[in-house]
Amino acid sequence: SDGTPVPDCLFCKIIAREIPAEVVRETETTLAFRDIHPQAPTHVLVVPKAHHPNAAALAVAAPDQAAAILAEAGEVAAQEKIAESGYRLIFNTGAGAGQTVFHAHVHVLGGDGSLHGTL
Ligand code: 5GP
Ligand code: ZN
Repeated sequence: SDGTPVPDCLFCKIIAREIPAEVVRETETTLAFRDIHPQAPTHVLVVPKAHHPNAAALAVAAPDQAAAILAEAGEVAAQEKIAESGYRLIFNTGAGAGQTVFHAHVHVLGGDGSLHGTL
């Protein structure tokens, strides 16, 4: 993947402001916006503006942007006041793991003490 926008990609459309989203943070290379179906009191998606199919591919093609979405996840947590209580970062990778949007993203989940799962 070379990062070029994909016309029928949902997150490329959100980045291009062709589809509305509730943006919580933006940098030159990243965008953070609320998940449309929140699974926790805070549920934000952080994406690179460049299109890569998943976070592992992003890390290979553009390691600086993989680091940038992690740093932004931390900034989102601070801004949302869940840094202290703790939060989870989830990277669904592959349809078999529940990935439905094939543009790299990290889920930032927090604000709920019952988030402890099996991992
Ligand atoms: P995945 O399952 O691929 O890891 O996560 C994709 C996420 O995108 C899901 O949690 C889903 O709720 C969210 N999502 C799907 N469509 C939209 C949309 O149009 N706007 C926003 N903000 N989130 C969306
Ligand atoms: Zn995309």
